[in-house]
Amino acid sequence: MAHIHNFSAGPSILPQEVFGQASKAVLSFENMGLSLLEVSHRSKEVVAMVDRTIALVKDLLDVPDGHAILFLQGGASMQFYMSALNFMKEGGKGGHIDTGVWSAKAIKEAKKIGTVVEVASSKDRSYSYIPKGFTVPSDLDFLHYTTNNTIYGTEFFETPKSPVPLLADMSSDIFSRKCSVADHALIYAGAQKNMGPAGVTLVIVKEELLGKTGRNLPSMLDYQVHIKGESMFNTPPVFPIYVSMLTLQWLKDKGGVAWAEQNNRAKAELFYNELDRNSLFTGTAAKEDRSRMNATFLLKDESLEADFSALLKAANISGLKGHRDVGGFRASMYNALPLESVMALVDVMHSFEQQKG
Ligand SMILES: *Cc1c(COP(=O)(O)O)cnc(C)c1O
Repeated sequence: MAHIHNFSAGPSILPQEVFGQASKAVLSFENMGLSLLEVSHRSKEVVAMVDRTIALVKDLLDVPDGHAILFLQGGASMQFYMSALNFMKEGGKGGHIDTGVWSAKAIKEAKKIGTVVEVASSKDRSYSYIPKGFTVPSDLDFLHYTTNNTIYGTEFFETPKSPVPLLADMSSDIFSRKCSVADHALIYAGAQKNMGPAGVTLVIVKEELLGKTGRNLPSMLDYQVHIKGESMFNTPPVFPIYVSMLTLQWLKDKGGVAWAEQNNRAKAELFYNELDRNSLFTGTAAKEDRSRMNATFLLKDESLEADFSALLKAANISGLKGHRDVGGFRASMYNALPLESVMALVDVMHSFEQQKG
């Protein structure tokens, strides 16, 4: 098979090395003589593997003591509800910044628990920018935001200043650049963009803020229950955690988040320079807020879409179709995507212009 340049938005590209290691563990894990898929999550080998994954997260993101690291199920989508349930007091209210589809879904779920105050929104211009200069009321129980808007291609490059606990959906840019965990009461991320395969959700939560809602929470939706159970209150997704561990080890070996950030800046710069230079295309996000993870763009002449798609296919470039809600194209450039793949894409855009321009 020819090498495919994988620009998929999620589930998305993982390092090639990881696939080889993961397949070995399917046949035989450690020296157990058993597949990782058939052993107890309470075996010492699996417990050690989960501990190793926690240590990698702590190290790579510089997680301070007092913040617990959990591996849960239900995706980022379950966290929309669970985060509000654990942080909104009985009769209280939560603040949200609305920057697109994912934040809107978080708002919808939080409204099932209590009052939501929309602190800022970029809906007025089709979510093409990141709101700035807003004030966060100090009577809120929390402020929730989405650090990277996977669908609209915008990203917060500055952490919002908040007088109340800050909750962040970092599903699509966690581990892609430095972030201050200490500034956040809660960070969550579905693994399937920058961390591993689908099936596990990373949660980092500041323990001292929990247990203050006045509510009797369902066990599975209570962070304190999962902290006490060390992510093994029920059977955890062992294999997705293992593949995440391999991916994080790969990242650490490369030079960690600082390496990823440098590399992601270089890829984004290469892509956006071509986008701005090329007369056939136009970007959809405000320049200063352009995401380094997901670049969204359009052909000025939509009737050329089929021709462009055919060229992409011929160059083994996959996953560039825009989200069904916004159309156009989207180049997702997560950590594991090599610079060479962005070069291949830029080459195709360039030759397409020569052909049509
Ligand atoms: C992909 C994505 C989600 C949804 O994640 P699931 O794990 O499918 O629930 C939520 N938020 C953001 C920012 C995403 O990119």
